[in-house]
Amino acid sequence: MEAVIANIRKMSRYMAYLYFEKRDYARLQAYLSDSISWVGTGKYEICHNKEEAQHFFMEEQRVYQGVFTITNDTYRVIPLNTCTVIAICLCRVQPQDRDALDMCEDMRFSLLWTKEDDEWKISHVHASIPDSSLDETNYFNLNPKELKSAGIQLASRYDTLTGIRNMEGFVKEAERLLKDTTQAYALIRFNICNFRFINHQYGYAFGDDILKSIAHNLSLSCQDTETCARIEKDTFVMLYHLQDKEKMYKRMYEVKSRLLDCSSLRRLKQKVQYTAGIYILEKDNKENIKSMMDKAAFAMKYVENTLDSSKFMYYESWMLQKKNRDDELLEQAKAAMQNQDFKLVIQPQMQLEDDRIVSGEALSRWTLPDGTAVAPDGFISLFEKYGLISKYDFYVLHLLCKTMQRWIRENRKIFPISVNQSRTHLTEPNYIEYFIQVVDSYQIPHELIVFELTESAFTESEKLLQHFMMSLKNAGFQIAIDDFGTGFSGISLLSRVNADILKVDKSLLNGINTSRRQMTIFWKIIEMAHSIGMRVICEGVETKEQLNDIRLLKCDIAQGYLIGKPIPLEEFEEKFMSPTVRI
Ligand code: C2E
Ligand code: CA
Ligand code: CA
Repeated sequence: MEAVIANIRKMSRYMAYLYFEKRDYARLQAYLSDSISWVGTGKYEICHNKEEAQHFFMEEQRVYQGVFTITNDTYRVIPLNTCTVIAICLCRVQPQDRDALDMCEDMRFSLLWTKEDDEWKISHVHASIPDSSLDETNYFNLNPKELKSAGIQLASRYDTLTGIRNMEGFVKEAERLLKDTTQAYALIRFNICNFRFINHQYGYAFGDDILKSIAHNLSLSCQDTETCARIEKDTFVMLYHLQDKEKMYKRMYEVKSRLLDCSSLRRLKQKVQYTAGIYILEKDNKENIKSMMDKAAFAMKYVENTLDSSKFMYYESWMLQKKNRDDELLEQAKAAMQNQDFKLVIQPQMQLEDDRIVSGEALSRWTLPDGTAVAPDGFISLFEKYGLISKYDFYVLHLLCKTMQRWIRENRKIFPISVNQSRTHLTEPNYIEYFIQVVDSYQIPHELIVFELTESAFTESEKLLQHFMMSLKNAGFQIAIDDFGTGFSGISLLSRVNADILKVDKSLLNGINTSRRQMTIFWKIIEMAHSIGMRVICEGVETKEQLNDIRLLKCDIAQGYLIGKPIPLEEFEEKFMSPTVRI
């Protein structure tokens, strides 16, 4: 046995030399057993055959291409039986190129040797940071068969693409780490910004490389009693110790700057950005891990979507309360739509040339069973978020068309009426066909319907938008650009979009009587719109001064509380639509 131990010690030293100093994985692989089950730097990097081991080595090479220097190496060789021997090397390794990889670590390099046909082969190779909880008694006391079956069981908790934990693995490991600990922890969940763009621009294989690189670097960022996982496509979670928010800020910044390895970074030419939510765990750690992940996800939703850099947000209890309120509102909305509890109001629009009411805008109102009125701003964005908006906007369209059909039958003086349609419809297949079908089912002449799209809709793909607008125009509807002046598109929008009406937002109007600059801008907008054949509606006119100002600036139509508030249909009919000959 002495000779075996000496031989294994010598071979193990050679393996450490190949692994760290030469990084000659090809030669090292010649020593691997066919039943290799474990390889890597993390705690549980499982592989099931030589091919997977080779893949792992290639990944390692890709992340850092240089070599290490070994110092202070000591070896311990422990025979389990005549055919199985454990060798552990404790050493210090230092990368030769410290600019590329800034670390100098004490390492435990462990090998499990098994005798196969008179040859010693490695069924386990593992480099880890020394951890007293992982000494040979609880780390190596499995025989290779047991190791393999443990490996298969463990594999279901690992993500096949990246090798780090998956959702199930994370939950199990987090539960283990949080059991009986007094440490403070935070659960971080993050999502890569524009990952779809990376896939599209560079191809899915590169997208996968990015995910692997992130996973690898995340696992390196974890200390012994921390963990990380990839739980969905480009969503990762970490369970990190929490000292204070300032240290967490620094750590998040560091994580961000090290997410990619050199080769991915070179190809992508920029760092990846993330949006993260952080949940600080309660002291008793009794909470369900998935509910912690949900809370971190709520926080993520509140991160501002700015273009410049990664952002994160801490979870706060109001976020859950808001979510619950939203869920409740959504449930009520579904019932309200069935019970026809939404009502239409119409706001009159006055032509400035002769002060006649010439058109109106349909807006919706919702009164809850307890009498509370919910303003559209409080539910439209919610409907958009949860995919209810299409149903809702068509519901409103039906209501309006039904009313207009009655007006036509009653021979009333009839105005064109605007409907607000969400920008989300731009990407809905067959939306316009369905829109036309509804209007036609009530036999409403198309020119009596004005289709309002907010300025923000015009940030969508140019081609898509052009096609959308063209189809509406060809069908004879009028198109209005709503809320002009609140988005980013500005004047350039007017040259790109063939709309009939420009609705200038009230925020632009507010400054005109105090600022000459604002007044000039307002005037130029009107002038430009006229020069390309558009009519201009000014929204939010509340005072006589404002009305005079916009009259002077040659605005075409005024809408606002001064002219008239949005009023129920019956009131609107009574006030503005006495049954006379149709015009
Ligand atoms: P909007 O299209 O810009 O509609 C004008 C909003 O300004 C209305 O608010 C109207 O009540 C308000 N308003 C009118 N005149 C004045 C004024 O002089 N002063 C002030 N301070 N406000 C005035 P409302 O009805 O609360 O609607 C808010 C937004 O909700 C609408 O903005 C529109 O974008 C959206 N919306 C309303 N109904 C629908 C709908 O059926 N479908 C969709 N997709 N969106 C809708
Ligand atoms: Ca509008
Ligand atoms: Ca508006």
